[in-house]
Amino acid sequence: MTGKTITIIGGGLAGCEAAWQAAGRGCGVRLLEMKPRAFSPAHHSEGLAELVCSNSLRAADPHAAVGLLKEEMRRLGSLIMAAADATAVPAGRALAVDRGLFSDWVTARIAAHPDIEVVRQECATIPTPEEAQGGPIILATGPLTSTPLAAALAAFTGGEHLAFYDAIAPIVAADSLDYGIVYSASRWEDGPGDYLNCPMDREQYLAFIAAVEGAAKVPLKDFEDPHYFEGCLPVEVMVARGPETLRFGPMKPVGLRDPKSGREAYAVVQLRKENLEATQYNMVGFQTKLTYGEQQRVFRMIPGMERAEFTRLGSIHRNTFVNGPKVLLPTLQCRKRPDLLIAGQLSGVEGYVESTAMGLLAGINVARLAQGEQPAIPPPDTAMGALVTHLTRESANFQPSNVNFGLFPPFTHKIPKKLRGGKRAEVALESLANWLREEHLEILDFPERSAPLGHLLA
Ligand SMILES: Cc1cc2nc3c(=O)[nH]c(=O)nc-3n(C[C@H](O)[C@H](O)[C@H](O)COP(=O)(O)OP(=O)(O)OC[C@H]3O[C@@H](n4cnc5c(N)ncnc54)[C@H](O)[C@@H]3O)c2cc1C
Repeated sequence: MTGKTITIIGGGLAGCEAAWQAAGRGCGVRLLEMKPRAFSPAHHSEGLAELVCSNSLRAADPHAAVGLLKEEMRRLGSLIMAAADATAVPAGRALAVDRGLFSDWVTARIAAHPDIEVVRQECATIPTPEEAQGGPIILATGPLTSTPLAAALAAFTGGEHLAFYDAIAPIVAADSLDYGIVYSASRWEDGPGDYLNCPMDREQYLAFIAAVEGAAKVPLKDFEDPHYFEGCLPVEVMVARGPETLRFGPMKPVGLRDPKSGREAYAVVQLRKENLEATQYNMVGFQTKLTYGEQQRVFRMIPGMERAEFTRLGSIHRNTFVNGPKVLLPTLQCRKRPDLLIAGQLSGVEGYVESTAMGLLAGINVARLAQGEQPAIPPPDTAMGALVTHLTRESANFQPSNVNFGLFPPFTHKIPKKLRGGKRAEVALESLANWLREEHLEILDFPERSAPLGHLLA
């Protein structure tokens, strides 16, 4: 073992991946996991790396963003990807696993590693540098971080930089909108505004309200508190308060004159740029718990969005996460305390695979810090780098995100739609290989793992 001992709090997907990466690079690791002494409302088994809901790690194809992220992690010697490949169950184009075997596989590998000590203990505070014996620390306690530690983290970040709920509005691809209908205008401003506006007449508005009212909603989990912040109400809750509520809220048309007709519409859905390149737009105020299928059906009733392609759908659920752009550096170190890294869903990504990827990066970087080296930042044109960009790019209303190609730098030339995924994968994997070479990053290997899925890219 070399360097200082690393402390990792949370033995979920990110914490286990981080422990494996750090220990595989020659460091000693203390991995603190509160189970079975305490359980979050969604965790039930004693094992590490418990998948709390679906058993799917989503698309297997590396020409899809999440498939590409998985392939990058395989190329970095990911423990979680090796576990997933070894315990996969048939699931069409997705990579799904036998949940129990998956957790057992990870738990056994971690337990058998000579340089990882697993301590079954709830951590109620963020360890001081003295408590961590001068070694770096990773917080990877996930979206359901236990209450005392969440309070300590809120005190550390400043309460306004720690959220307890996602309130996610859908995002649409700019090139799927009908520009014969939508128009640019910012409220009360002359000239082309920053927002796109989808105008509705009275009849369209009433039909839309009725559709939202009648649409299927995702039921609340028993531990989810149905009390929402007034400023962040789900769209269907606003509709339930009365048919005019939306028209006096996020769909207010005043000051948004349509340049074609010179008039204000009866109601307007506003779309705000989601990225600098304006390839994606966020539906302003449309956080929702409608089911994914219903969101696509109902939101395509909005004039100008009939053929909308959603790069993210809306949701609201319990989720503890830091305001990445305010709290984190692109190395996942905290700005205020560079010996403290935040990984997994707590860092502001969304999803099993994304959480694991941030654990992998944090694991590499704590090993480098413990050994007196500079931490590394993955290039922005890789899937890992695109997630880091999302976590750290200035944003007025930071919300967690799944990996998607909208987070990548735009192409410099036009590429036909059906070739874009392939091109993304080609660029990303080459960029990843260069990064590994330049940073002298060692790849961890698994002699016993089952066949990797690298052939998918052949
Ligand atoms: C209810 C729910 C369902 C989800 N379903 C999906 C899904 O289907 N698909 C998907 O892609 N993503 C899903 N997610 C989102 C997310 O991807 C997962 O939660 C994922 O497991 C996050 O990985 P993680 O490593 O950050 O946290 P986790 O996997 O949750 O690991 C955190 C670990 O830290 C431990 N811990 C917490 N507090 C402490 C403490 N104070 N001291 C010590 N240990 C502590 C926990 O016991 C846990 O083992 C879901 C999230 C929730 C809340």
